[in-house]
Amino acid sequence: MYSNFKELISKEELDKRIAELAEQIDKDYEGKEITIICVMRGAVFFTVELTLKMKTKLKYEFITISSYAGTDTTGEVTLRTDLRDSIEGKDVLIVEDIIDTGRSMKYLLEHLRSKNPRTLKVCTLASKPERREVEVPIDYLGFEVPNKYIVGFGFDIDNNYRNLPYVASLEG
Ligand code: 5GP
Repeated sequence: MYSNFKELISKEELDKRIAELAEQIDKDYEGKEITIICVMRGAVFFTVELTLKMKTKLKYEFITISSYAGTDTTGEVTLRTDLRDSIEGKDVLIVEDIIDTGRSMKYLLEHLRSKNPRTLKVCTLASKPERREVEVPIDYLGFEVPNKYIVGFGFDIDNNYRNLPYVASLEG
């Protein structure tokens, strides 16, 4: 481990909480088909781990937005790649890595609502409530995290460290 990384959420805690979320989502969507929208690139690891534990029939879509430069947000959200297929009339679940200021999720919700899904819900691995600037709904939450920059399990610094198997905070 790098000396300024401090383990915040262990691999075991991630596994346990993600299994609980998968069970809850399966229960809520019983008999339905879910369109999972994985928000690239950070949510890839979470999406894979979550959906491998789920039993509900599902399809995958991927969307790429960017809002972060280095370790500080630019505040501006841009759409880089949109969905491939239509989500009109579908039960859609957005799977995100973290909700920080809330700006990215607000943008995503507006963008996706305009495509007329039947339902639209939000699942996020982490949330930093102290940093919120715009309120957004969270239907499924993995962990509340403190106001620190986090890395690992999909969280990056300039696209590095995503493959740490746990979540660490950057200290100092
Ligand atoms: P928001 O628009 O809510 O401020 O930011 C959401 C995006 O910022 C997340 O999807 C994530 O990519 C990035 N982000 C926010 N906080 C962190 C963090 O602590 N670590 C990393 N690696 N990315 C973060």
